[in-house]
Amino acid sequence: MKTYDFVIIGAGITGLSLARQLIRKDSQSSILVLEKEPRFGLHGSGRNSGVLHSGVYYEENSLKARVCGAGAKELACYCDENNLPIARMGKVIVPVREGDDAQIDILHQRATHNGANVAIVDSQQLREIEPEVVSLSGRALHSPDTAVIDPLAVLTQLVHDLLKKGVEIQFDCAVTVADLESSTIIDNRGNRVGYGHLFNAAGQCSDHIARLFGVGNKYMLLPIKGIYFSLDKKSGIQLNGLVYPVPDLAVPFLGVHSVKTIQGSIYLGPTAIPAFGSENYKGMTGIKIDDAIRITFQLIQLYLRNNQGFRKFTNEEAGRFLKRRFVKAAGLLIPKLKVEHLQPSEKVGIRAQLLNKESHELVMDFLVEQKGNTSHILNAVSPAFTSSFAFARHVVQKLTEG
Ligand SMILES: Cc1cc2nc3c(=O)[nH]c(=O)nc-3n(C[C@H](O)[C@H](O)[C@H](O)COP(=O)(O)OP(=O)(O)OC[C@H]3O[C@@H](n4cnc5c(N)ncnc54)[C@H](O)[C@@H]3O)c2cc1C
Repeated sequence: MKTYDFVIIGAGITGLSLARQLIRKDSQSSILVLEKEPRFGLHGSGRNSGVLHSGVYYEENSLKARVCGAGAKELACYCDENNLPIARMGKVIVPVREGDDAQIDILHQRATHNGANVAIVDSQQLREIEPEVVSLSGRALHSPDTAVIDPLAVLTQLVHDLLKKGVEIQFDCAVTVADLESSTIIDNRGNRVGYGHLFNAAGQCSDHIARLFGVGNKYMLLPIKGIYFSLDKKSGIQLNGLVYPVPDLAVPFLGVHSVKTIQGSIYLGPTAIPAFGSENYKGMTGIKIDDAIRITFQLIQLYLRNNQGFRKFTNEEAGRFLKRRFVKAAGLLIPKLKVEHLQPSEKVGIRAQLLNKESHELVMDFLVEQKGNTSHILNAVSPAFTSSFAFARHVVQKLTEG
């Protein structure tokens, strides 16, 4: 049996950024990353909007507020240094419902506190920035530094860097058993590996992995599906940057927005509709009956208790997988948008949103639980891609502090 200083479960952006931070700290460390899939990027880290958020939304003193802005700057530098594509196209956040306007001031306050460069603009300035976009109240929040990157290009570069520095990455290798006493894990091939410290960065499966170590029993991950439609070039709709609605600040989702990729294609999405399995990307695929029952039970609880205004949120989101309902939401941002302008797309992602089963609330912030010589990343939701380098530094630092 081989023992490593550090074993990391999951080769998504969180696991790879942890490996990067650890090897930067001590180039002599032995590090093994275990990934259950044949390649990286098949889940959250390869299925997102690719936006480097600048830290607008997050409540003062939250971990997201502390690491998002710093993470965005570091990842942008990383892209520049490695000639990876990055487009600094900016973003506007626009009120779309009655009552949204007051949130512009709250967001402005939060953004300023978090060190993000933002400005409140009026309807004329908004027209200059995004001629196709209309604000219900006339005002909008402009974040000129928000950028778009290519997530797969970032992951590819990270894997390349890590391998060069002697980090081992094993694919097709799912961790199935953990033994805290002997500090070992066993994978699906029956191989046993020892660790000095273990990081659980298993994304959608991190709650399951944590339970193998007796950690996080009061939590479970709810899979929330995000589908995107692509905007037909023939629609004639031109967007210069990213366009987001003012979000419902009680829940950790940002609302249907526009995503302009590095290649210039425009998508609208993602929805926030329940999935019935952590990998239930399409139809009935990826559904396990016992998981589906647990998820449905928790969703019903959330709906009945209506914590965080979950009922209103669900009613708004329900049916957005139907094009007509989706266009109704997206059309609040871009009035010219018509059903025939949108094409179904293959782009779909699942957010692993943590639920506290005791308080029946969605956890808003990133969460790291430690037990013995193990650390568990339990809520690496958006903006976890943006924040990854700064977040990894925080997690590793926490370790040193004991
Ligand atoms: C639709 C959508 C849009 C988003 N948009 C943005 C955005 O614009 N900006 C942003 O910053 N963030 C965004 N996010 C969030 C961001 O993409 C994720 O939070 C982030 O990628 C999570 O990374 P991760 O490494 O923690 O998880 P993952 O990328 O899911 O990686 C975890 C890995 O662990 C592996 N694994 C699981 N179980 C095991 C096991 N037993 N053994 C070994 N390996 C295992 C999985 O196969 C997976 O590869 C978005 C997310 C979604 C779904």
